[in-house]
This record gives sequence, C-alpha cells and structure tokens, in this order.
Amino acid sequence: MTLEVENLSVHYGGVSAVRSVSFTVPPGGCLGIIGANGAGKTSTLKAVLGLVPRTVTALRLEGRDLTRVKARDMVRQGIGYVPEGRHVFAGLTVEKNLLLGAYAKPWNAETRRHLHDVFTLFPVLGEMRTRLAGALSGGQQQMLAIGRALMSRPTLLLLDEPSMGLSPKLVEEILAALQRLSADGLSMLLVEQNAKLTFEATDTCLVVENGTVAMSGASSALRHDARVRKVYLGL
Ligand code: ATP
Repeated sequence: MTLEVENLSVHYGGVSAVRSVSFTVPPGGCLGIIGANGAGKTSTLKAVLGLVPRTVTALRLEGRDLTRVKARDMVRQGIGYVPEGRHVFAGLTVEKNLLLGAYAKPWNAETRRHLHDVFTLFPVLGEMRTRLAGALSGGQQQMLAIGRALMSRPTLLLLDEPSMGLSPKLVEEILAALQRLSADGLSMLLVEQNAKLTFEATDTCLVVENGTVAMSGASSALRHDARVRKVYLGL
C-alpha cells in the first residue's frame, strides 16, 4: 500500500513540533524516520493517524484521501499502529491482547490463522499465550504490541521506537521480525532513535531535526554519510 504525505505540520499551542514534512511509503517498502529526542518523530506518526491536530495538504493511502478519516477508523483503512511504550493490557492474557487487536474484523478461521501467524513470527508469545501480559519482559511486551497490531491485518504498519529500552539481543530479534514482515510485502513506517536498526530495517530514511527533514535518501547511502555516522551512529 502506498502512503503519501505532503506538507504535514503539527503545532501544540505555540510549539511547532513538525514543519512541512513530506514523504512516501511505497507498496511493500519500509521507510524510516530517525532523529533525536524531541525531533518530532512521534508527532509525525500521530499526525498521520489523526491523533494530534495537524495540517496536511495531502494524506493518501493507495490513492484514498485520509484527511477526514477519524483516528479510530484508521485501522479499518488498513493501518496498524505500534505505539511508543507498547501499551499492552497488563491484566489480560497474551492471547486476549492479541485478539483485541482483531476487534475490527469478524472472528473467524482467518482470525485463528492470523493468531497462528503471530505465534510463528514470535514463538515466545505462543508459549506464553495464557500468561498475563504484565508478567512479560519488555522485549516480549514489544513483540506482543507488534503482534496485536498485526492482528488487524494491516497493509501498512506504523511503528514508534520498537527498540526502546531493549537489550541488543532483543533489538536483533525485533529487527529480524521486521525484515520478515517486509519480505512478506507489508509496507512499514518505522520511527526510531536507533539509527543502526533503522538503516538495517528500511529501504529509505528521513533524518528529522527540529521538526523538519534535514536529510533523506537510501538507507544504504545515508548510513555512510559522515555527519550521520558522527551524530546518529556515534562513529
Ligand atoms: P521522542 O524520541 O522523545 O519521542 P520525538 O522525536 O518523537 O521525541 P515528539 O514527541 O514528536 O518528538 O516531540 C516533538 C516536540 O513537540 C518536542 O519539542 C516536544 O516537547 C513537543 N511536544 C510533544 N508532544 C507535545 C504536547 N502534547 N504538548 C506540547 N508539546 C509537545
């Protein structure tokens, strides 16, 4: 699914968080947005979903205008969202959390197949399906948050800092899962502070600084840029 975003801006009162940002996520492609704390990454994702007040000259998914679609209806348009901080339901089981992700679809054999697909992608979730989500580790909760978003059978997945607070080994596991989803043809928009992960997971990348796009290009090229290496990769 192609996502087209033109001139997206977000203001919080007098604070200008995102200024005229434009990008396209091509069908089956993975676009990354990297930037420091407060650069405007989360606001960009939330603005695409309509979760924060925004102005935008065009917002289209597969040619369909999304500017008037309410945030709660975005999932029915085919957009899955993995929020920063996971927000799993701690008092519900792993399986219940996943089934809640499928709320917009009728419960049928396909739902069971998707549950099975999530357990194939993250076997640990299958092993822990009857455990309470609150008892999972941070990495397992991140997998659960991704799995829950996948249960809505999205054609485009938005991910907000899935590597946050995870050990390097778990970051590798999340990366492998994203690469598998990408290979299966899912379009993704990945927002991250972890530039290394993002360059490995994406085809193209934007670097945002103070709410604007400072650089953009192929991830394979950006990772070799001298300034990016210094500022975002610490090399
Ligand atoms: P982080 O990595 O910390 O999540 P970010 O790149 O996602 O950072 P945003 O959370 O989008 O950045 O924040 C961009 C700017 O907007 C920051 O200056 C932030 O302080 C400000 N901001 C974010 N949310 C609000 C809000 N609800 N009200 C006022 N200002 C906000």
